Amino acid sequence: MPPPVFRFAPSPNGYLHLGHAYSALLNFDLARRSGGRFLLRIEDIDATRCRPEFEAAIYEDLAWLGISWEMPVRRQSEHFARYRQAVEQLSGMGLVYPSFESRAEIARMVREREASAPWPRDPDGAPLYPGAAKSLPAEERSRLLEQGLPYALRLDMAAACARANRLIWIEHGEGPDGETGAVSAHPEAWGDVILARKETPTSYHLSVVIDDAVQGVTDVVRGRDLFWSTSVHLLLQRLLGIPQPVYRHHRLIEDASGQKLSKSTKATGLRELRGQGATPAEIRRLVGLLDDSRSSTGGC
Ligand code: GLU
Repeated sequence: MPPPVFRFAPSPNGYLHLGHAYSALLNFDLARRSGGRFLLRIEDIDATRCRPEFEAAIYEDLAWLGISWEMPVRRQSEHFARYRQAVEQLSGMGLVYPSFESRAEIARMVREREASAPWPRDPDGAPLYPGAAKSLPAEERSRLLEQGLPYALRLDMAAACARANRLIWIEHGEGPDGETGAVSAHPEAWGDVILARKETPTSYHLSVVIDDAVQGVTDVVRGRDLFWSTSVHLLLQRLLGIPQPVYRHHRLIEDASGQKLSKSTKATGLRELRGQGATPAEIRRLVGLLDDSRSSTGGC
């Protein structure tokens, strides 16, 4: 049996906090204890928010925590050609269409719909795509593309689900309502998700699925906030014919008021805590992980 492969995949759009420390340490400990491999991936597709100093800080903070990873590190911004290829594969199956509405137009359409009845929301609380771009006549679509308008490439969710049949993943952790074991995916709850944009040839959902496959990741261990995103990931894996890892969604580290930590909350930033004299062992204790040399259980 090849060794299991774990990964930690932060976005360099801010400094790491205790929540990241927990996720990274949990992945690292699980890899070490199972004789597996641990990879680090930099999810930097959003050029407007990602910055080199945040990426440098990720390496520094993880090394300080005592985490080591295989080289080279995969940086998503270096693999746009691979993501484009996947979009083309899905396009070739007739599952992708361009939509041309701006974010403001979409918000206005949702407001109009909501004047009469609640408009459906995805598991993250964002309204589903309300537009009709899927049924634009081909000539109209070509005309808008030729005009050079910005666009988003969307997955035709109904057609994609019809092709995929039933999707189930193995959950070693727990979902928001205690879901565990064999979990049924519900990608339709996300509507026609964006796969790529004119200026960014990929999206979180698409690149995470491609990268986990390219890197041979067998065990995806990440925060519970991404639990229902797994539905979309399973669908894309099925459509693209790539392997499905097992998943372990872990508890989120919260602040004193019970809120999920944010990258801008200084009180829980790793750099701040380090600056105040905290040690890596104290960080482990703060996130509820025993020192790995004393064999922690992780406590997902
Ligand atoms: N880059 C994502 C984040 O920072 C994590 C993606 C994943 O683990 O699937 O939240």
